[in-house]
Amino acid sequence: AYDPARRLAKLQVQIERAVVNARMIYALLDLQPQQREVADAADLVVTEARVELKNVSFAYGDGAAILKGVDIVAEGGKTTALVGPSGAGKSTIIALIPRFYDPTEGAILIDGQDIAKVTKTSLRRQLAYVSQQPYLFEGSIRDNIRYGRPEATDVEIEDAARLAHAHDFILAQPKGYDTPVGENGITLSGGQRQRLSIARALVRNAPILLLDEATSALDNESEAAVQKALDVAMKDRTVIVVAHRLSTVVKADRIVVMNEGQVMEQGTHEELANRKDGLYARLNNLQASPIEAPATED
Ligand code: ATP
Repeated sequence: AYDPARRLAKLQVQIERAVVNARMIYALLDLQPQQREVADAADLVVTEARVELKNVSFAYGDGAAILKGVDIVAEGGKTTALVGPSGAGKSTIIALIPRFYDPTEGAILIDGQDIAKVTKTSLRRQLAYVSQQPYLFEGSIRDNIRYGRPEATDVEIEDAARLAHAHDFILAQPKGYDTPVGENGITLSGGQRQRLSIARALVRNAPILLLDEATSALDNESEAAVQKALDVAMKDRTVIVVAHRLSTVVKADRIVVMNEGQVMEQGTHEELANRKDGLYARLNNLQASPIEAPATED
């Protein structure tokens, strides 16, 4: 039934989420953050790009605990997939790494350095973010890719677009790389937007990639193109992915199964699938949420 109050509440949630996403991108791309650093902050020095959450607890404001004593190691150059029901805290973990929020307890280390004690500029320079709802700024396609790294040359932008399987559809636009997008520009399909967002991450060339995988299925052709682009972006990087597709989860080097802010189990697909009474095995058998594999996939 039509319930204006409920619809409004739902819209409010959607808007807040969109703001968080846009903010994440702005903040990630903000190479000179205005925030003050702790007085003796040093620059982060990345060697392996190993990310470690140590006994991390977190609450938004005065709210209930969203993360409770989370221990996760994302090894350098490997893919770590976060899975679990909606509300388990997966996206919150992603938001803690660029320090949009700080843990209320515990610490996050990158190559052994506490990220709370390094400059935000040096931290965020090491991170790239690809979201399920890529944000396109007012400007040309070229500008939108360049947001990943303002000093990138045109050649670097086109190389990134080629790797992201975006070059051909960009050339097919009325003005190629100079075609305006955003509110007053042309409309791109979901898959095209995602490939631009991946090109933006590639031009940034950061060793750590935070990935919020799309839940909504694209048509098969775009799906394949996006997947190829992601495979390029993920190669040789430390990837922490909020995974919704079974194929992503199965391929991950390590799977972290979350529920209600806690890590329930961790391991490879094989290890977890064989743990008969484990949450992961149950979820796999149900072939349903939280991994949310579309029925047609795999
Ligand atoms: P989903 O797959 O649905 O995105 P998730 O596992 O990523 O779920 P989170 O988005 O991290 O879960 O949310 C964990 C909890 O934190 C939820 O109860 C959510 O409502 C709450 N939450 C998320 N963002 C905020 C915020 N900015 N302020 C207050 N509460 C929030």
